[in-house]
Amino acid sequence: MIRSGMNAPGLDRILFASGNRGKYVEVVDLFAPLGIEIIFGPEALRLDVEETGATYAANAWLKAKAYCLASGIAALADDSGVEVRALGWEPGIYSARVAPSDEERTDRLLGRMEGVTDRYARYVAAFALYLPSGCCIITEGVCPGELREVPVGSRGFGYDPIFAPSGYEGTFGEIPDAIKRKISHRAVAGYRLMDILSGNCVVE
Ligand code: IMP
Repeated sequence: MIRSGMNAPGLDRILFASGNRGKYVEVVDLFAPLGIEIIFGPEALRLDVEETGATYAANAWLKAKAYCLASGIAALADDSGVEVRALGWEPGIYSARVAPSDEERTDRLLGRMEGVTDRYARYVAAFALYLPSGCCIITEGVCPGELREVPVGSRGFGYDPIFAPSGYEGTFGEIPDAIKRKISHRAVAGYRLMDILSGNCVVE
């Protein structure tokens, strides 16, 4: 239950429900202003949660709930993907599953975009924070941009070398990590979650 009008006591540590250390580092940095300890999931327990949801939010909820119920600690999970307008917003929640490696996934997407002039795309992310009380807070964030014709840069991961965020010259393969961490879809979803947690509310 969340009550407005007070600070959020009782939430002094959170388990990050993912085995991805890169994301963990990003999340620790993002939520640092809250002053809450964030524990890397696999350090507490190992769970293999199937992502059977039809949305990012549903998948994040499934993961956060499984980790919270198994550990008794508040758990935070994310799910994300890239959506391309000219492809009817595919690959979306299937972004990680269309091919076995980042390189193959990128090649496949570029192949589908050959000769397509509408290059608009967006990264989307959801965070779910599942609390031992059974309450779950879910937020989403979007980072708009466009797909380039060839990969440029070696920073980041996934589709970053072909994704150029709106308002920037380069792709996320070129843009420094410190900037990506401020403007990414996960950052926007994180700001919204922090607003809820720090914006005068009680989490029970
Ligand atoms: P998941 O959120 O770990 O299930 O992965 C979603 C997939 O979407 C990743 O494997 C990438 O292919 C893609 N994706 C999500 N966020 C990003 C990002 O920040 N950069 C590049 N690709 C991303």
